[in-house]
Amino acid sequence: MCRLDSRAVRYELHDSRVLTWSLETHVTTHCNLRCAQCCPLSPHLPAWAVSPQALAEDLRRLSRVLKPNVFKLTGGEPFLHPDLPAVLDVVRTSGLTEQVSVTTNGFLAQSAPDAVYERLDRMTLSFYTSAPLPERSITRITERCDQHGVHLTVKAIDRFQRITPDAPLTSDAEIQDVFNKCWLKQRCHLVHQGRFFTCTRPPHVATVFAAEHPHLPALAEHDGVLLDDPDLLTRLLGYLERDTPLATCRHCLGSSGPWEPHAQLPRARAAP
Ligand code: SF4
Ligand code: SF4
Repeated sequence: MCRLDSRAVRYELHDSRVLTWSLETHVTTHCNLRCAQCCPLSPHLPAWAVSPQALAEDLRRLSRVLKPNVFKLTGGEPFLHPDLPAVLDVVRTSGLTEQVSVTTNGFLAQSAPDAVYERLDRMTLSFYTSAPLPERSITRITERCDQHGVHLTVKAIDRFQRITPDAPLTSDAEIQDVFNKCWLKQRCHLVHQGRFFTCTRPPHVATVFAAEHPHLPALAEHDGVLLDDPDLLTRLLGYLERDTPLATCRHCLGSSGPWEPHAQLPRARAAP
């Protein structure tokens, strides 16, 4: 796994693969909730669902150089994907990891087909106090997980840490400090549309803030590692062990933001 000192992270290798805590993919970017300070900015993103074929190609490349403990299907809300069993099959056959997990708000999980539960090892159910899942739904999900041998973790969440600043950070020292203290860069590795990211923010910050900040660099390109890099292992290690912030960190508070009560954003108005 990785070692952390006050500034730099160092990763260990096994069979020429970098050992990591986890890897996730956003199988959808849209969600049926609108949590304030949603880390992947889901309430502000257009609807999108990953193609199983495209994910298969990304994981084929990554599995040669990366060995995460667990692969997480996240979003958005993963149960909004039109073919979650196909996505799970791709992850299972990639050889990337032995543990496959889904993270959900639970509203659609109780009625998902058996084919989803059969392909899962773990489920993390986020119970938001601002949009509480009914007790009977939790009971039903628990029964289905028990039936299929899926390890269920229920996380009650009554507060969020502010992650998106009101305005871009201006001081290089502040950006460096946010990056140094950010634990997401070790725990929230992301594969998304042909690139590897050390956290979930670059592709989505770019999409959401491009109109507001026309001089924003193409963050997904700037802050991600292309998976068709001919020397992917060296490139990946250098990227993961960097001690300089991403360009995206200027638009992010990482794990340094203040804690706030959990809240739902108002529903976006339908177009007239
Ligand atoms: S349920 Fe998760 S993905 Fe959906 S808006 Fe809330 S934090 Fe974001
Ligand atoms: S953009 Fe920077 S501060 Fe934000 S989560 Fe990623 S590494 Fe951390």
